[in-house]
Amino acid sequence: MQNQRQIFRLRARASGREAFAPAEPGGVYIDSETGEEMEPVTELLPLAPSDSALLRSPENLRSCRRCDQLIGVDVSDCPYCGLRQSALA
Ligand SMILES: [Zn+2]
Repeated sequence: MQNQRQIFRLRARASGREAFAPAEPGGVYIDSETGEEMEPVTELLPLAPSDSALLRSPENLRSCRRCDQLIGVDVSDCPYCGLRQSALA
């Protein structure tokens, strides 16, 4: 289950409705229920391309250097010991 296409959080400006979907630059995205145009507002993790689309697969984890627990690569503070994690390369 590889993650080749980047998934975005899409938001409709007027209603604030949100959806997750792959998006391409210049694409137009319409909410199928309300007909509103939706704008990509952020990329979801894991960023494409990655070896897995699953957020908590081994490819998307790292171990805390103090307590050695596995934590997500996107986590800024270890949820087990609270250590601030170093920035990703
Ligand atoms: Zn820790």
